[in-house]
Amino acid sequence: MSTDMIPYGKQDINQDDIAAVLDVLNSDFLTQGPQVPLFEKTVADYCDAQFGVAVNSATSALHIACLALDLGEDDIIWTSPNTFVASANCGLYCGAKVDFVDIDPQTYNLCADKLEQKLIKAKSQNKLPKIVIPVHFAGQSCDMKRIHQLSQEYGFSIIEDASHAIGGKYLDKPIGDCQYSDITVFSFHPVKIITTAEGGLVTTNQPGLAEKMQLLRSHGVTRDPKLMTKESEGGWYYQQVDLGFNYRMTEMQAALGVSQMQRLDEFVAKRHQLQQRYDELLQDFPVITPYQSLDAYSALHLYPIQIELDKVNKSHKQIFKDLRQNGIGVNLHYIPVHTQPYYQNMGFKLGDFPNAENYYSRAISIPMFQGLTFDMQDQVVDTLKKVLA
Ligand SMILES: *Cc1c(COP(=O)(O)O)cnc(C)c1O
Repeated sequence: MSTDMIPYGKQDINQDDIAAVLDVLNSDFLTQGPQVPLFEKTVADYCDAQFGVAVNSATSALHIACLALDLGEDDIIWTSPNTFVASANCGLYCGAKVDFVDIDPQTYNLCADKLEQKLIKAKSQNKLPKIVIPVHFAGQSCDMKRIHQLSQEYGFSIIEDASHAIGGKYLDKPIGDCQYSDITVFSFHPVKIITTAEGGLVTTNQPGLAEKMQLLRSHGVTRDPKLMTKESEGGWYYQQVDLGFNYRMTEMQAALGVSQMQRLDEFVAKRHQLQQRYDELLQDFPVITPYQSLDAYSALHLYPIQIELDKVNKSHKQIFKDLRQNGIGVNLHYIPVHTQPYYQNMGFKLGDFPNAENYYSRAISIPMFQGLTFDMQDQVVDTLKKVLA
């Protein structure tokens, strides 16, 4: 990649962010200090959720969320094939089976109709999922009301993979309030809406789940007498009551997160400006721009377009290559998870989830991030015009 390539996503770090991290470096705690609880409270309050538990990645968050919901070897999780592999791998970490529900061709999110059809069939075969993980693709909420209704009817838990969606809303309520789910997971990787370098966080309104995830992120070890099986043996005493991990977030990361949260609404508002400009500028292009549902205020992590390949004289692959060669750092979200070799070895085949595969065959994510200037955006549009001509 050339250095003046416009990336598809990029973090936005200002002087306040840098000062916040430096303050921590000069303080007594680099880990397990006051910044992590402050970040947890900041995010939980923003989301109108009761509890926040910060960890070192969304991948870790998905893992402990599944464990907290007692996912084990005889269980099944379902998620969207149009996602990053982590949304599915968390099930495999727990020894469970993974299956997918195809996407809605308009929203690119897990399709609630397809979910219902699959549940009816699974019930008759006694193979119902224990957990369904809807992914708010590109920052736009799934049809959570419907998915929640189905969870009541068929008895599964819900983890929202909102890695793309902090700062977004569903039915005018913040994503992460867990009104229609048990747990919501966020990612703070630098390409996402706000960043802690690496990092993730779960929100929940269920005290038992919050407690369990707090244990699991730190070795299953507690210093809380209420959680111990017998009396403390002294001031040094701790107990391991579960098998946990070291999934802790550092104080530097949490301080960066607290600082980034101050600008979250501004970041998402800028993304909306960019989205509206793209929608207008691309009107006469042979592309399908991303549909915005009336139920959702998307966090707009991505701006994925579909190329109308019957209207252009180039292949998808060639268009992608030409854009990269002309300085536009496009990407593709996502290679359907079930087509990955690891999943093909488990028996999934090309053709299993045709909507996700069809979308993949035409999709390109063009640059979308808060630091994208209108001039840079015009350059993206001009280049796309040239490449598609
Ligand atoms: C980025 C992402 C993840 C993983 O996030 P990390 O913080 O990098 O572990 C999981 N799911 C989705 C949908 C993502 O986009």
